[in-house]
Amino acid sequence: MHPYRNLMNHLRETAILNSCAALLGWDERTYMPRAGSAHRAEQLALLARWSHERLTAPHVGEWLSELDAVTLDPDQAANVREIRRSYRRAIRLPARLVEELARVTTQAQQIWVDARTSNDFSRFLPWLERIIALKREEAQALGEGSEPYDSLLEEYEPGATVQRIDSVFQALATELVPFVSRLLEAPRQPDESILRQDFPVPAQEHFGRTVAEAIGFHFEAGRLDVTAHPFCTGIGPGDCRLTTRYHPTHFSEGFFGILHECGHGIYEQNLPAEHFGTPLGTACSLGIHESQSRLWENFVGRSFEFWEFYFPKAQQVFASLHHVRLDDFILAINRVGRTFIRVEADEVTYNLHIILRFELEQKLIRGELSPGDVPLAWNERFHDLLEITPPSDTLGCLQDIHWSFGGIGYFPTYTLGNLYAAQFMEAAQRDLGESELRDDFRQGRFNRLRDWLVTKIHRHGQRYRAEELCQRVTGAALSHHPFMRYLRAKYARLYGVSPD
Ligand code: ZN
Repeated sequence: MHPYRNLMNHLRETAILNSCAALLGWDERTYMPRAGSAHRAEQLALLARWSHERLTAPHVGEWLSELDAVTLDPDQAANVREIRRSYRRAIRLPARLVEELARVTTQAQQIWVDARTSNDFSRFLPWLERIIALKREEAQALGEGSEPYDSLLEEYEPGATVQRIDSVFQALATELVPFVSRLLEAPRQPDESILRQDFPVPAQEHFGRTVAEAIGFHFEAGRLDVTAHPFCTGIGPGDCRLTTRYHPTHFSEGFFGILHECGHGIYEQNLPAEHFGTPLGTACSLGIHESQSRLWENFVGRSFEFWEFYFPKAQQVFASLHHVRLDDFILAINRVGRTFIRVEADEVTYNLHIILRFELEQKLIRGELSPGDVPLAWNERFHDLLEITPPSDTLGCLQDIHWSFGGIGYFPTYTLGNLYAAQFMEAAQRDLGESELRDDFRQGRFNRLRDWLVTKIHRHGQRYRAEELCQRVTGAALSHHPFMRYLRAKYARLYGVSPD
């Protein structure tokens, strides 16, 4: 049989195996009884081992070298390019290193929970040291890009480099820091208590589902359930699961959580099903995935026009909003403030939290910062960027799970998502008409924007790398300018300050 067909069949079966693991993972985080966790870990470990064996099977290498001599069409070539990439990464990593990373990070996550709860960095330190050493070893073995951190970024954002991201992020930080100060000094400030009233959970659920459906999430091919930590997981064609959490006296957490996960879900639901299991049927990168969630959550869901349509509907559902004015509500959901915790940050300051982590990760991987000095370095840089100093490591360097699971290189994809979202939104406004698009939102219509995203981004899967996709869709390379233009225009209007 043809090596390309062999490769595709092999890949599709591996993807089916992985989708079983994804479903078990979803169940673990939603409905599984607590006592089932040890058995679930065994199920998932077995599936992960099978999947890894299939990915690195000698057959795969043979088919790939046979394909060197075969002329491929552009679709096939894109698939083979990405399969080669993941195969090369998988075989370069020694089995001993993979196993040790899995063992150390499993234990480290438990230690991290304890260290964070007891505000005791010294308990986590030996584990962080071990993880950084292993990740440096991993980067060395992978040997991609011009410095070790590039190899780690490659896991989440294929084709991205430290040098490129850092230059965009530093330009962003330079503009964001004074911008935040100006907003906080503005005479007009939000009254956030509007959002901290009674919002009965069944009403929140009903309202959230209505909006999710309106922006284009298909419930006949998806679900929305409740978890402690919201996520979205695409099980396969026709099955995409969203989760959220509701707070009975806080509007934003549940509602914007749904919009965020829904943005991920709409992307998953519109990947081409005929390419399931192959790179062409897989999301481009974490940064592009995050651009879709941020676009619906912030660029649409926190816009003036969106609430011109939905606020009267929200007032019908929530008695606590009866006496609230639309303008006050919109200002409240867009409140900017300096906070210690990343996941509680607004769309403006959020990126400063990410830039801090990205800088520290670079230094850790280059060996310029020793793990023991992380708390001090964190607090100093945090103060430079946000002008406040965390009173504890629990509110500082111990707040995120990422380092404990070895996710070095993950953080920058969040801010890349914001930047790509702004750039895509500008391009959509150019293609579809800015005022026409605003009118759409005013009438609760989102199909033109959604179809544009499907055509331009979703249906390509991994045909292009993120930066190339951005260039093709927007006509420009990744830049911080569209995001800053968006923030300046929106927040000048909200806070009553001048745009520059
Ligand atoms: Zn997300």
